Amino acid sequence: MTEPRLKPASIAAHAAGAKDAAAAGVVPGISVSTTYLRGPDYALQRPDNIYGRDENDTVRQAEEVLRQLEGAAATRLFPSGMAAVAALARTVPRDGRIIVQSGIYYGVTHFLRQFCARRDLKLDEVEASDIDAVRHACAAPADLLWIEVPSNPWLRMVDIAAAAEAARGAGAALAVDATAATPVLMRPLEMGADFVMHSATKAINGHSDVLAGVLSCADPDSAMWQAVLADRHDAGAILGPFEAWLLMRGMRTLPLRLERMCQNAQHLAGWLAAQDAVEAVYYPGLADHPGHAVAARQMQGGFGYLMSFLVHGGHAAAARVAGRLSLIQRATSLGGVESLIEHRHVIEPQSGIPENLLRFAVGIEDVRDLIADLEQALAAP
Ligand SMILES: *Cc1c(COP(=O)(O)O)cnc(C)c1O
Repeated sequence: MTEPRLKPASIAAHAAGAKDAAAAGVVPGISVSTTYLRGPDYALQRPDNIYGRDENDTVRQAEEVLRQLEGAAATRLFPSGMAAVAALARTVPRDGRIIVQSGIYYGVTHFLRQFCARRDLKLDEVEASDIDAVRHACAAPADLLWIEVPSNPWLRMVDIAAAAEAARGAGAALAVDATAATPVLMRPLEMGADFVMHSATKAINGHSDVLAGVLSCADPDSAMWQAVLADRHDAGAILGPFEAWLLMRGMRTLPLRLERMCQNAQHLAGWLAAQDAVEAVYYPGLADHPGHAVAARQMQGGFGYLMSFLVHGGHAAAARVAGRLSLIQRATSLGGVESLIEHRHVIEPQSGIPENLLRFAVGIEDVRDLIADLEQALAAP
């Protein structure tokens, strides 16, 4: 019997069918054991459960929700987004080559620079929203092409199918960091990507109370995926069962939260673009965004919950706007139910982010309250 293919909202609401078998409960319990029993004959009572560094039913249940939402062949959770990035990077062999999109989440750029320098790997940074630059970089052999769609904080778009084709030509695997889209809005594996990664800390969990990362693949038999599995097991970058349970709890409303966040973000991007105090708005849902056509083709159900905008007047003006907000909180991160603003330059002065850029992670509040907060913050001093 083939399973009926459920829509994302149904998969998420039912946590992909996870239940508490022992109690006949609608909601699964948390499996906390770090070790598993053997019988008198010393056979494992559950052959797939040996030791907690790799085997945990709660983590598996959360992975299954994400696997189904992603349309992936296999999915593994990690204790942070960066742990997932590192697990994939560690599969690149000695004297290998990584191509990474420039202007992406600075934590990934910084990690890859240090990692490649230490390992004598070749690292090339390209502006991947220009697909010809990707093709040019892929003219020479490589092991991994890493892109981020939409990118954080610039919201640049990359044509994933074209990048996948270029990567294949170079003998490289394509990995897409789709944190700002989530599997509900965009499914890169269906466009030819080999791996998709998310910081599940962001919208996937959605409540700013769990750190987690997720990596999914199209081909579970590939040498790289097998190396990821071995790396997670042997190096022990494991998500704890409490975090996995909270993540599953958060994901039940992921499609619903995204619906509201995307509606709010689309409305706010248009509103911000019309304000005199605002110099520019970067949001792929705006018709004049350079990546709008690619975003419209690759994303469904909305253009995401993340945007950036430039305030007229430089560092002081941007800091004043951020400082005046009262409902929208000043904090790093994104994807929570509460809207957050970040003066990115203060966090990463070395990454070349303009001093008047504010990154805005839109939550699920009433959009009228968000506009009122922004309106008073943007008003002339
Ligand atoms: C936050 C983030 C990461 C890192 O994830 P952590 O869970 O913080 O380790 C990677 N990529 C993007 C796009 C992010 O926003």
